[in-house]
Amino acid sequence: MEPPVMTSREITVPAWTFGALRDELANISDKHSSTTLLQKVGYRSGISASTVFKEGLNSAVLETMQSTFWTHLCGFFSCRGWGTLVVDSDHPGLGFLTSDDWAEAMTAEVDRNANCCFSTGFISGLLSEIAGSPVAVLEAKCRARGDRACEFAFGSEQVVRNLYGQLLMDADPTAT
Ligand SMILES: [Zn+2]
Repeated sequence: MEPPVMTSREITVPAWTFGALRDELANISDKHSSTTLLQKVGYRSGISASTVFKEGLNSAVLETMQSTFWTHLCGFFSCRGWGTLVVDSDHPGLGFLTSDDWAEAMTAEVDRNANCCFSTGFISGLLSEIAGSPVAVLEAKCRARGDRACEFAFGSEQVVRNLYGQLLMDADPTAT
């Protein structure tokens, strides 16, 4: 018998899958390894999702029509149940996607170390594949750790790394 062909087919699973994944991974690995693993799986999933994302979008939209592109991106996530995204792309080299109802942030209790690591990887994989060059993503704020909304910053690796350094400084001004 022939194996099933790999396609960009999508399926729907409960959003709580993320919580179950986090819990089970926590039983077999440390926090850093779990986060890295979820980010990597998210990244690969995001690359795969780009095929479906690009359907119905012509290359002119991808290259020139920024507002149409962002509307398409927000619709792509909201109609799949991820949540409502608000885009802020006014800063040179750095953009923000903010959501106050993001699915991965669903949690039974606030955890100061939580973040939407699968989504961070997913958005990075999706945007990198569409852009044709690496797009780094960092979740600067997260509802799962008590922030008002999840806030995903995206840009070049260097810009996002600088932002990460700034966030660390803000969290602990005595750190050097
Ligand atoms: Zn989050």
